[in-house]
Amino acid sequence: MGEFRVPKSHPRYWSLYYRHKIEEAMEKGILAKAGPIAHGRGEAFDYLIGEKTIEPAERAMRAAVAKLLLAKHPVLSVNGNVAALVPKETIELAKALNSKLEINLFYRTEERVRAIEEELRKYDPDIELLGINPTRRIPGLEHERGKVDEEGIWKADVVVVPLEDGDRTEALVAMGKFVITIDLNPLSRSARMADITVVDNIIRAYPRMTELAREMKDHSREELLKIVEGYDNGKTLGDVLTHMKNRLEELAKEGIWRRAEL
Ligand code: ATP
Ligand code: MG
Repeated sequence: MGEFRVPKSHPRYWSLYYRHKIEEAMEKGILAKAGPIAHGRGEAFDYLIGEKTIEPAERAMRAAVAKLLLAKHPVLSVNGNVAALVPKETIELAKALNSKLEINLFYRTEERVRAIEEELRKYDPDIELLGINPTRRIPGLEHERGKVDEEGIWKADVVVVPLEDGDRTEALVAMGKFVITIDLNPLSRSARMADITVVDNIIRAYPRMTELAREMKDHSREELLKIVEGYDNGKTLGDVLTHMKNRLEELAKEGIWRRAEL
């Protein structure tokens, strides 16, 4: 497998580093062919928000963590892109939240499920992983795309479906699940359909959510409920769009030609 040889001094080091992770995941059979396309779309939106966690995302993460801590049966869904970028961070977040992990794929093949399982087990060989033998189906989705684990997403009250297809997000909402997504594109169907949308790169979002989970786990139920009830996803999405618009306007005014940093 190709080594990552870009020097740390490269101005786009991290972007290239994560692209390499995507390439590696492709070679390991973790990623579907569409995986790199989704990654590229995410990168484009990351440029627009400024490649940092913006305030509306922080607000969404706080509400998401509060909801997950209140949940009876929280589940984090893992797909190929998630396993490629944040395998260790996904396990850490699941542990901090006391949440189940389910491998759940849009383009499900048994080989990919096994490759993802193997990747996650590198970080914790004993971790409980659902979605290996799913026996239930999300109503309204055709066969492979709809498979879910009886003990996981099927039973869940709160599910996190990061980097997810919009149609599946909508089907989960229609099932009555409380759906949280992480999606850099605030205009995607997933972003628009979810109950809570974290518009941030999962690379930044998952470690931050783990921090928040550790910080908030001793909050009372009342405090957590207050955070969830005070949260407005429509406003958050609007604030993300406004952030992008303002940022582009400022950049246009300041000028970007031959500017090293944005
Ligand atoms: P939709 O079906 O929801 O309208 P889509 O077809 O663009 O949107 P998919 O390709 O099904 O979405 O899912 C991938 C989504 O994940 C995209 O919206 C993309 O912007 C986002 N994404 C990709 N990489 C990341 C990342 N590292 N962090 C957060 N979001 C990401
Ligand atoms: Mg889609």
